[in-house]
Amino acid sequence: NGKVVIVTGGGQGIGRCIARTFAEKGAKVVIADIDDEAGIENEEYIKSKGGDSLFVHTDVSLEEDVKNMVDKTIKAYGKIDILINNAGIGAGGTIYTRPMEEWDRVINVNLRGTYMCSKYVAPHMRDNGGGVIINIASTRAFMSEPHTEPYSASKGGIIALTHSLAISLSYDKIRVNSISPGWIEVSEWKKSREAKKPQLTEEDHLQHPAGRVGKPEDVANACLFLCSEEASFITGANLIVDGGMTVKMIYV
Ligand code: NAD
Repeated sequence: NGKVVIVTGGGQGIGRCIARTFAEKGAKVVIADIDDEAGIENEEYIKSKGGDSLFVHTDVSLEEDVKNMVDKTIKAYGKIDILINNAGIGAGGTIYTRPMEEWDRVINVNLRGTYMCSKYVAPHMRDNGGGVIINIASTRAFMSEPHTEPYSASKGGIIALTHSLAISLSYDKIRVNSISPGWIEVSEWKKSREAKKPQLTEEDHLQHPAGRVGKPEDVANACLFLCSEEASFITGANLIVDGGMTVKMIYV
């Protein structure tokens, strides 16, 4: 309530839902996204529901963009309470075919972007007496399908970055945690031009111990909890939100 929250990648997908969830609770939400159409659409949606939101065009891998986004947040709202490092991308190809530029792009957006947003937001949290940072990792930090090296490595990096930041920033009352989502179905959470009904099968749902595929709300609710007073003893942790998939042993 009255908190200032930055959601990177807040235009589409999980970030779109996180931004709306915090706005519904009365937060002022900065949407930092590279996709102007998606970002402006979400800003306008939040405002149409009586919420307070500001879209700032941001590529989280570019230092100038991140500095500008933090400056605009401070100009508009005067402080930053919460940072959700959600922007993330994957790469195609295999180790045999993937150009090194794709490795660099994934690491730069997912890992460098998470560090850089934290770096420029942390001084404002420190000056304001504290704050909360949440980094969106993935269960792919712990297990893999074939051909996901840049993505998996970036997410493993985010887990390590999270405990490292949690210790460094503890002296300034900033808690830092990560969330590792499993399979989250986002097709209904794309910008309206691209949104579509999910094509999920019974098998998709039933392979999850929780009995269903995940929704963006599952991640947004975990963010709300980790930002709340009830979670004040939790820092440096990774919360797995995957319907039980990573603890399920599979024998064929
Ligand atoms: P998405 O592609 O639906 O949305 C990502 C958003 O980030 C988009 O609005 C996009 O424009 C924005 N973005 C991309 N590059 C950016 C950049 N350089 N700077 C700023 N914004 C940028 O993805 P999603 O499925 O909602 O994923 C969100 C996060 O959750 C990612 O970090 C992803 O790795 C993680 N995640 C997703 C799943 C899943 O099943 N959907 C599972 C585990 C983890």
